[in-house]
Amino acid sequence: MAGLQLKQIRKSYGAVDVIHGIDLDIKQGEFIVFVGPSGCGKSTLLRMIAGLEEISGGQMYIDNELVNEVPPSKRGIAMVFQSYALYPHMTVYDNMAFGMRIAKESKEEIDRRVRNAAEILQLTKYLDRLPKALSGGQRQRVAIGRAICRNPKVFLFDEPLSNLDAALRVATRIEIAKLNEAMADTTMIYVTHDQVEAMTLADRIVVLSGGHIEQVGAPLALYERPDNLFVARFIGSPAMNIIPATVTAAGPQTTVRLAGGKSVTLAVPSDAGAVGKAASFGVRPEDLVVATGEDFLFEGTVSIVEALGEVTLLYIDGLVADEPIIAKLPGILPVARGERIRFTADAAKLHLFDENGRSYRT
Ligand code: ADP
Ligand code: MG
Repeated sequence: MAGLQLKQIRKSYGAVDVIHGIDLDIKQGEFIVFVGPSGCGKSTLLRMIAGLEEISGGQMYIDNELVNEVPPSKRGIAMVFQSYALYPHMTVYDNMAFGMRIAKESKEEIDRRVRNAAEILQLTKYLDRLPKALSGGQRQRVAIGRAICRNPKVFLFDEPLSNLDAALRVATRIEIAKLNEAMADTTMIYVTHDQVEAMTLADRIVVLSGGHIEQVGAPLALYERPDNLFVARFIGSPAMNIIPATVTAAGPQTTVRLAGGKSVTLAVPSDAGAVGKAASFGVRPEDLVVATGEDFLFEGTVSIVEALGEVTLLYIDGLVADEPIIAKLPGILPVARGERIRFTADAAKLHLFDENGRSYRT
């Protein structure tokens, strides 16, 4: 059973620590996505799992075996990179067969695995082509096929779609989702900075920042119950609106005074020590609704209208200095720049974070 355990995994380059002690349990067959801003350590962590990067501290187990000192070829992993690096003078078939020929697999076994991978990835009719006669998406599928042929216990992907244009990215993402279904027992770890990929592919997302884990959870759990301000802002687009606030009453419900003066009571618990402390109030753009009566959350002036057809984004000035509040409303709205507008939101959709950015819910 190829699960993975990372225990206090660290990485430093000379005196610079880039991974600060990662603890993570990955079950066999799980699809795990590492997501986070550029430079947060996603590739470094993946490369340590692959054995391409030395582990500076901690223990890494694959299949309950300590692999810190095990070379990449003995870890039962296959990795797909952003640049697919196919051999240009070899056919699709030979590109996929190459590694197995080096490993002296039998001709029959090679043929069986290549045809199986081609079948999974719908490449059967391209087996005789050279890479130059393929689209970028097809080339990346060949690179994935080459990895499938290795029969890995663990499949690693490092931003495999980021060289593709938007339409191919969507199509290839769906191929990867199907691949995950077809290889249900194979553990997959997928690095991306694209939150749509993270949300749609992952069983669980690991949100990283600055070389540590911010939160691990199912995609919708991260969306609905972010543990902290970082995750709240990172998951969801446009990002969650954050408004500075002060706690004015504590208990099973918490009342805060927002910048601008409005008082709001939220269905999140706090203790008496919170009263008087700074907090951050959060509400997602898509959770705001236009308020018609006096019962509103906040009021401001529309500074920008972005009509996308399916949704309209409104940028509202006048509440937080320098930063507009964004509302994402369904459909096409007859709203113009300069209009005053009021918003409200369902109490269950409101978020509150303490002075250190920790959610009050957890
Ligand atoms: P990500 O994949 O999340 O964008 P990386 O894992 O590539 O981030 O990098 C994490 C951090 O480690 C970055 O700050 C990067 O500059 C640093 N880093 C990566 N590789 C090296 C290296 N070979 N030497 C020194 N620093 C490195
Ligand atoms: Mg990277």
